Amino acid sequence: PGSAPSRLLQGLNPEQLAAVTLPAVPALVLAGAGSGKTRVLTTRIAWLLNTGQASPGGVLAVTFTNKAAKEMLTRLGAMLPVAVRGMWIGTFHGLCNRFLRAHWKLAGLAQGFQILDSSDQLSAVKRVIKAMNLDEERFVPKQVSWFIAGCKEEGERPRDVDVRDEQSRKLVEIYQAYQDQCEREGVVDFGELMLRSYELLRDNEPLREHYRRRFSHVLVDEFQDTNKLQYAWLKMLAPPGLMGQSVLAVGDDDQSIYAFRGARVGNMADFEREYRVPRVIKLEQNYRSFGHILDAANGLISHNAQRLGKNLRTEAGVGEPVRVVENTSDYAEAQWLLEEAQQLHRSGTPRSEIALLYRSNAQSRVLESALFNAGVPYRVYGGLRFFERAEVKHALAYLRLLENANDDTSFLRVVNFPTRGIGARSIEQLQDAARASGRSLAQSVGAVPGKAGEKLRGFVDLIDGMRTATQGLTLREIIEHMLAQTGLVDFYRTDKEGQDRIENLEELVNAAESFVTQEGFGKDAVALPVDEQGGGDVASTATAPALITGDPAAPDAETGEIMSPLAAFLTHASLEAGDNQAQAGQDAIQLMTVHSAKGLEFDAVFITGIEEGLFPHEQSLSDADGVEEERRLMYVAITRARKRLYLSFSQTRMLHGQTRYNVKSRFFDEIPEHTLKWLTPRQQGFGSGYAREYQQAWQRGSGLSGIVGAGRVEPAAPPPPPFVAAAAGQAAGLRVGQTVFHTKFGEGIVTTLEGRGADARAQVQFGRHGSKWLSLAIAKLTPVD
Ligand code: ATP
Ligand code: MG
Repeated sequence: PGSAPSRLLQGLNPEQLAAVTLPAVPALVLAGAGSGKTRVLTTRIAWLLNTGQASPGGVLAVTFTNKAAKEMLTRLGAMLPVAVRGMWIGTFHGLCNRFLRAHWKLAGLAQGFQILDSSDQLSAVKRVIKAMNLDEERFVPKQVSWFIAGCKEEGERPRDVDVRDEQSRKLVEIYQAYQDQCEREGVVDFGELMLRSYELLRDNEPLREHYRRRFSHVLVDEFQDTNKLQYAWLKMLAPPGLMGQSVLAVGDDDQSIYAFRGARVGNMADFEREYRVPRVIKLEQNYRSFGHILDAANGLISHNAQRLGKNLRTEAGVGEPVRVVENTSDYAEAQWLLEEAQQLHRSGTPRSEIALLYRSNAQSRVLESALFNAGVPYRVYGGLRFFERAEVKHALAYLRLLENANDDTSFLRVVNFPTRGIGARSIEQLQDAARASGRSLAQSVGAVPGKAGEKLRGFVDLIDGMRTATQGLTLREIIEHMLAQTGLVDFYRTDKEGQDRIENLEELVNAAESFVTQEGFGKDAVALPVDEQGGGDVASTATAPALITGDPAAPDAETGEIMSPLAAFLTHASLEAGDNQAQAGQDAIQLMTVHSAKGLEFDAVFITGIEEGLFPHEQSLSDADGVEEERRLMYVAITRARKRLYLSFSQTRMLHGQTRYNVKSRFFDEIPEHTLKWLTPRQQGFGSGYAREYQQAWQRGSGLSGIVGAGRVEPAAPPPPPFVAAAAGQAAGLRVGQTVFHTKFGEGIVTTLEGRGADARAQVQFGRHGSKWLSLAIAKLTPVD
């Protein structure tokens, strides 16, 4: 069923059509921004499914950000009624997470392992440095954690690292100790997700063969930004020369912007050579932007020497000129942006089609406060994410301890928060005891004598008590119970800034609630097929964008065990780029760094702070490669715009607590003059009285804004087809309260039944193994009574 293949292919140009309908040969699409690379990739998936050449379980597609993955699933859902949940579409990290959830044991990981975000990782590194009695001045924690992340990106374990001198020998020792600590605590960092799945595929032949056979079609978007390890991982799953498997990589060398994180644009040339790509497909028509915007981008990027060389043209007409504005200060810039964005909104552009882009995260604060004070809904991507706020992290730490008592990072975060009279001295004693016995902090509280020991035991009892009391409760109830029992909410009631923080904690409950409904953990959730066994491919209906971040519901391949809703939610919290400033579904202005805007498009784009030292960034100025990467970044920024583009800069700016006097960026001299329209008089150098006058005039109400064409109307995605199936629980003859037998976990009592069809799951309280969530599609549960 579904749409006829010909309808899918409608409107593609000949090169796009060729790429979409390629036979099973390795292919590389090299093309500029907005030429339809992502569209080709998505349409190819739809075409493969529609023509029966692939089943949803046989497709592996990698994108760069969660937002892009979500976008791809939405587009796919609009093209076909297809089971997105069974499909492996996500980011590298998301997919590796999903893979490791299914094979945690083979990977040598703790079951239900938790993921450290970058700030958790930093505090873990700090603890290691302290435990090793090293000087934080010589071994700066941030640099150490970059070192570790860098090693992992290169695929290097401590034993593989080249030791050149005393300093690097010590660094490797820290790396090893950090690794041991993660192991003990059952946690992994982002780099570990990638490296561990690579190693598992490399070392486990049957598993590797299984996945190679399973994924008959592998597709990678934004290939120019893959690093060495990611490319190696791909080659594990889709080796060059494997018959019957198709691999499609799409990319744009002009948009390679992650060299600072180990991305190798050379992977494209390697891919072409190693896979013997018969013909590189080039797409030259841009469908996104009007002519002036495109000319600005082309003109700018032509100043780079290292390019593979591509052309881009558009048939859309020149459109509006690119507007340039000089401001007196960053504050004035934010005010101006705010007003202009409001004007656009009033004249019909949805807020979600307006993007404010900046080079560095620190720039967002001024913009945010202008928007906030004006009561304009906005959403920040990247930046300080909701899940990274202190009070939210405290709450999450308690939840993590419920899942895993041995998570020392979480233990340390909240053992004395809210204060319980447990001092630094007692904690040190506890850490010594834990180190001496090689056990976790929670396991070592017995070793601390006296009053201190009593208090520590009290804390562990609190956690154990909550764990027992929350058995069988819904995720929402668990979080509410925890917030009350730990005294977190009470604590913030007495705090000055408390109200905000309490609201954030309430927001956490909301986040859990929407996680439950969206991800199908709720009792009334639409049943979604789960196909993690890999064997039989499931090709049934159902939609609803599933867990893009890497399905935590993926069951253990052997026992059918799945994560509890709580564990799944915690994983989600560490992986999801938080976007909770505006309420979900609210029309909000989009704020993000240029890096996180990659692959996206908006009707109107503002690029702010285009000043020497900021964009191009001062750290890039020392070498030509650095400036070229900044230029590519600017190219990415410009090419996000469909109809209207603003470039702005400011004479002064507060950054890192200092006022800086800035000069407009060199990029203004590299963009063809005919594409630009200066809203403030064009100045040579910096310092301009006109700018100030202009601002005043502008503030008196002589705004310069025109009207952007009416907002685009996107066809709405069709509603998900109803999935009709009896609850698998019922089909299997199970009911709550029933005694069942599991070959691995023994006898237990069913406490919860949820979901339907292939997504049905049960929570079972086992005698020796405790409470487990099981996927009924996989776990064999035999009724006993
Ligand atoms: P980027 O390099 O920025 O990631 P891209 O090459 O991936 O860009 P897409 O995002 O796939 O480009 O496409 C850009 C826009 O052009 C999208 O809105 C897409 O729907 C539209 N588009 C692509 N191909 C066509 C076509 N043949 N006809 C009409 N619109 C198209
Ligand atoms: Mg794209």
